[in-house]
Formats: sequence, C-alpha cells, structure tokens
Amino acid sequence: MSVEEQVLKLLTESKRPVFLTGAGLSVPSGIPDYRSLGGVYHDLELPEYLLSRSCFEQEQEKFYTFVKKLYHPEAKPNESHLKIAKLTKEKESAKVVTQNIDHLHEEADTKNLINFHGSLYHCYCTKCNKTCLVDDYLVSNYHEDCGGIIRPDIVLYEESLPNNRIEAAIKAVSEADLILIVGTSFKVYPFSQLIEYRQSNSPIVVINKEEIETSDNHLFIKGDAQNFFSKV
Ligand SMILES: [Zn+2]
Repeated sequence: MSVEEQVLKLLTESKRPVFLTGAGLSVPSGIPDYRSLGGVYHDLELPEYLLSRSCFEQEQEKFYTFVKKLYHPEAKPNESHLKIAKLTKEKESAKVVTQNIDHLHEEADTKNLINFHGSLYHCYCTKCNKTCLVDDYLVSNYHEDCGGIIRPDIVLYEESLPNNRIEAAIKAVSEADLILIVGTSFKVYPFSQLIEYRQSNSPIVVINKEEIETSDNHLFIKGDAQNFFSKV
C-alpha cells in the first residue's frame, strides 16, 4: 500500500481526526504567505514589525497599509478547504485548528473550527469595542461612530494568544485519533507544540510541500494538499 493509500485508509477509519492547517493550504486560492509581502529596504519593514503591537500603537498608518494587503476578499476555498469542511460534517468529532487568518475555512462552512491566530474578517473598535464590518475597515481604520481605531481580531507579534483558545486547541489534539498537519512547515510557536498533547497511539500525517522538523513518527505526503484531498 502506498503512503497515500495508507493515509486515505486512516482517514476513512478515523472518528476524531484533527486537521492542523497553515498558509500552504491557501496558496492555491491566491493568498500569498504574508512573509513574502514586507518591504525589503529597511529592517523595520519586516512583517514581524509591521504586524506587531508596537507598529499598531506607534505607526498606525504603516500598520494599516500593510494589513490591508493581507485581504483577498475575492479568494475562494479550494479543494483542500472544501474536503476538510465536508469531513467535519461527516465526522461529528472532527476538528480543525488553523494558523490561517484568511477566513477560507469559514467560507467552506467548516464545523468545529478554531482560528488559532484569529481572523482578518472579524474586526472591532479598540475604543468602544463594537464589532465593525470588514468592508468599513478596508475604507477607513477609524470607527465612524466614535473615532476609535479599528483593528482585525488577529494575534499580533508581541501579543499572546487567548488562553481559552489554546486550551480548546489542546483539547482538540488530545482527543483526536488521527493528527493531520496540512500546508504548514510547523515552525510557529506555540502552534507547533500542539502535537505534544496527542495520545501516543494517534498517528501523525504530514501533507506539505516540504518535510517538517519533528522527531515523532509520521507518514509524509509531499506536495500540494489539493492533490491528496481530490482523492478524499
Ligand atoms: Zn468605536
């Protein structure tokens, strides 16, 4: 049996799979990894700065200009998002934990989804705390009602993740009978630590363009995840 056939069998038999997904999943939908978007002329222009709490507080216009580049409202879920969504409907206990902030898992109507780093498509006013429409934010970063600054509900560099979200993700992994790491090089902390909470007999599958660094036993399918999910 090929590795792909083994994984298809594991997935069919699994009752509680968890999908841990990243930027590679959305690249075929036309969403570039934001790390490729920063300016190259000055150290301060690195995405790690442009998406930081410091930049948000001290250079709001620079932050806003960069964040707007991350929006791709025209992007549609691809085969990977759609098949994962289908599996979350067929298997009640299937869960998805994503690093992506691009809304495509939601667009695909995924059940049991944890947006680990938040979502660009949930915006709120930092002064009055009201939820704001994304369309309004893309026109102006100032809240019309109160003049406060609007921001997307994403976790910025220098900010920590909400504890309840980390706990929910740990619970999803600890209850899973199959772990699928899809479209991510799995290097970002604390996301990459999640597999430490798995049950020791739950197999790990990696579907990605490149191998990930882990000492854990796993099955590896190299390539675009869409190739695999087209067979699911
Ligand atoms: Zn406001």
